[in-house]
Amino acid sequence: MTGSWEDDALCAQTDPEAHYPEPGGTSRDAKRTCLACEVRPECLEYAISTEQRFGVWGGVSQQELRRLVQARHGEAA
Ligand code: SF4
Repeated sequence: MTGSWEDDALCAQTDPEAHYPEPGGTSRDAKRTCLACEVRPECLEYAISTEQRFGVWGGVSQQELRRLVQARHGEAA
């Protein structure tokens, strides 16, 4: 896909594996990459709107993302 925020995804240029930690593993390194990523807002919005269930997106962990998705649904209700 061209012209999309994914073209500037910093994780794709560093260590994509770090964004999918094993159960109980740390998301710290992935979050650090996200903090330096230019497309973090777009990435986070994508993850919330598509309800991504696995991995670190936009600087938040799976659990944090789940809460944001639930909050979005709460707002919409
Ligand atoms: S915010 Fe994080 S997960 Fe999203 S594209 Fe950037 S580095 Fe990757």
